[in-house]
Amino acid sequence: MNWLHLAEQHREDFLKDLTHFLSINSVEDMTTAADGQPFGTGVAQALDFLLDKAVRDGFLTQNFEGYAGAINYGQGDEQIGILAHVDVVPAGDPDEWSTPPFSPEIRNGRIYARGAIDDKGPALAAYYAMKIVRDTDLPLSKQIRFIIGTDEESGWLCMKRYGELASFPETGFSPDADFPIIHAEKGQINPTITLEPEQDATGSFLLRSFTSGERVNMVPDSAVAVIETTHDLPSHFSAFLKKYDLRGIDITSGSTVTLILNGQSAHGMAPQTGRNAGTWLAHFLSKYPFTGSAKSFLSFLTDTLHEDHHGEQLGIACSDDVTGKLTVNPGVLTYDEEKGAVVKLNIRYPATVSPEERLNLLCDKLQTLGLHLADVRTSKSHYVPHDHPAVQTLQSVYRDQTGQEPTLLSSGGATYARSLKYGVAFGAVFPGEVMTAHQTDEYANIDSLLKAMSLYAQAIYELAK
Ligand SMILES: [Zn+2]
Repeated sequence: MNWLHLAEQHREDFLKDLTHFLSINSVEDMTTAADGQPFGTGVAQALDFLLDKAVRDGFLTQNFEGYAGAINYGQGDEQIGILAHVDVVPAGDPDEWSTPPFSPEIRNGRIYARGAIDDKGPALAAYYAMKIVRDTDLPLSKQIRFIIGTDEESGWLCMKRYGELASFPETGFSPDADFPIIHAEKGQINPTITLEPEQDATGSFLLRSFTSGERVNMVPDSAVAVIETTHDLPSHFSAFLKKYDLRGIDITSGSTVTLILNGQSAHGMAPQTGRNAGTWLAHFLSKYPFTGSAKSFLSFLTDTLHEDHHGEQLGIACSDDVTGKLTVNPGVLTYDEEKGAVVKLNIRYPATVSPEERLNLLCDKLQTLGLHLADVRTSKSHYVPHDHPAVQTLQSVYRDQTGQEPTLLSSGGATYARSLKYGVAFGAVFPGEVMTAHQTDEYANIDSLLKAMSLYAQAIYELAK
């Protein structure tokens, strides 16, 4: 079977569908949430887009109350799962994009749009692969179940609800990361840290508010602070920006100074690849004599979190051979003079390390700083042994089609693969390609998506035959 040839025959249709799919702004929007669309209108439209397409193509589909969808093919007691998501992270400042994030554009063999590589491009490639396998009419012994999630970038409630309404296959893959194969994923600890408000209202520097970051799993690309002072902050601010090669603006109105600093967004699993606008702005402000909770907030950001991507200052640093170093992303950093501070971290710990131990160390540190742990959300690490038959099947498919060594990788990212007992992440970014997920000007290489489609088709066939 020439799988690549079969994939290439769908190039035009695939690009047309992908353009439509990427035009749907499927950022979670709880203001439009309702029965049957628990994460808002855009996410629901993206889910319907895939399910409607599958119905038109003659597949049986299911919609699990808008939380998740399934596209089914074939019979058999055993199932092979393919798990992908249709929601996307916010686009950040649209003016930073070369073309609007939800108006897909093809340039130099790439398609640019929010969701191009995370995860709509790979999801659609895997769907096409499933259709290619069906159209070959090759005999299969297992059922293929394409599970579509809608809340991957936020709370994973989609998978939780799916698990309550239906069962997960044991084996399968998620096209939501890198090739060749990711068989181990770090665990996560997502603490919400708070601080009660308390400031000396007569001080010469008063922090009215501070806002940075929309999502805990992204490096914040902008930060805004509103300060009450008669001191000449703006001139010092421009000197600071210049010194550290950062961008920003200031707006002064009477004694109210608003400072806006722009950093560089990146995925929360690799905070060292971005520039955290929030901690940089705190770093600038921390040398001024703020008082009380504002002072504690700024010094927590500066002394404990700023440019410390592996939790050294938090006292939780560690690493292992399978998944590497623990990482810390300060994703949401807010202060309000009346409500106090809320800081949300995204901590990713090595697969073989105990999360309880890390959490205890974190609590100890927070206590010494006078901060409260208001809430914590954790997810376990995930690991599939290298000699599992499904891993070996995917390895041989990859070797077959690419001629490259199918090295097993680990990741700081959490993919739906962990929803399956023996699930792995499989593509769609090839070795040597740039991963642009969660970034400004996110894109996918079109030829690579076609190659991925071809790999997925063979993989689905080999796993289900
Ligand atoms: Zn994703």
